Amino acid sequence: MDSVHNYVWHDPVWQQLWQQPERLPHALLLHGPAGTGKRRFARAVAARILCQRPAADGYACGQCASCHWLEQDAHPDFFLLSPDSGEDESAEGDKPQKRKSAWINVEQVRNLVELTALSKHQGGWRVVIVEPAEQLNLNAANALLKTLEEPSERTLFLLVTARLNRVMPTIRSRCLKLALPAPGPSQAEAWLRERGLGNSAALLHEAGGAPLLALELAEPAYREQADWLLQALGKGPAMDALQVAEKLQDMPIASCVDIVQKWLFDLLRTRLVKAGHFYPDYANNLQALVKSVNLSRLSTLLDTAQRIRRAAYHPLNARLVQEELLLGYQALFQADS
Ligand SMILES: [Zn+2]
Repeated sequence: MDSVHNYVWHDPVWQQLWQQPERLPHALLLHGPAGTGKRRFARAVAARILCQRPAADGYACGQCASCHWLEQDAHPDFFLLSPDSGEDESAEGDKPQKRKSAWINVEQVRNLVELTALSKHQGGWRVVIVEPAEQLNLNAANALLKTLEEPSERTLFLLVTARLNRVMPTIRSRCLKLALPAPGPSQAEAWLRERGLGNSAALLHEAGGAPLLALELAEPAYREQADWLLQALGKGPAMDALQVAEKLQDMPIASCVDIVQKWLFDLLRTRLVKAGHFYPDYANNLQALVKSVNLSRLSTLLDTAQRIRRAAYHPLNARLVQEELLLGYQALFQADS
């Protein structure tokens, strides 16, 4: 069963962790780049701790009652603390979109403390995954801190983050930090090829080296829109911003901003160091465009993209934002008047 295993590039850390299982701390802070499998690692640790008959290879057996409960998200001694999901009432149109609140709040931590006090159904371990750990708001972090300072017996906290420096220092200091590395390029490419992706090198560039993200970027529905947008951006001043916005009105604004932002980075890098980073397949396009790009407008537009990106959780009119970004892009190639 896949869900009880970690990814192969985390094997050395996994082995190291279980060398002295009796000395496992009560709180582990798992950190590493986004899109590289930290969540899977945390689940595998939880499964192994809760499993009634761990296998000889060190993993959970995937067969016992405990493993089945965990698989079905119904384990009485397993708890997940992550931002609440709810309806986004600000969504446009008649289909409300699921929207995640960005934060873990104090009520969630209090509920967790009450629940863990009542649990121990199996008389064994309890495991709590906190993810993403940097999204505990101040009150929630303080409430969790109390629990971490006075750990109950046989309770393991697994905190997961891709932004270690945003986790509150007081929380960090109560945990054993465990760095989960990203795979090297050849290992990541091989892993993607095993999943049937032929253009794995280009996808990995696009994903900044994160294989799980690369896999998402290969999804046909995403790919079709992304390639269409990239080709449009490749036209530079000849791109029709409003037509592109019209065509991409179903594309999530976050994906659109992500692509435009990476494209702008590549333009900047091509200008400064003669080579892009995210879109090597478009190197010729970028080389041609960079000759007529206005550098100060490019830098302003990168700021705009960053601002839009940060606002991703706020209600905004996606179409207007898209148009602002694409019209800004077109203006990069216009002569100063
Ligand atoms: Zn098991």
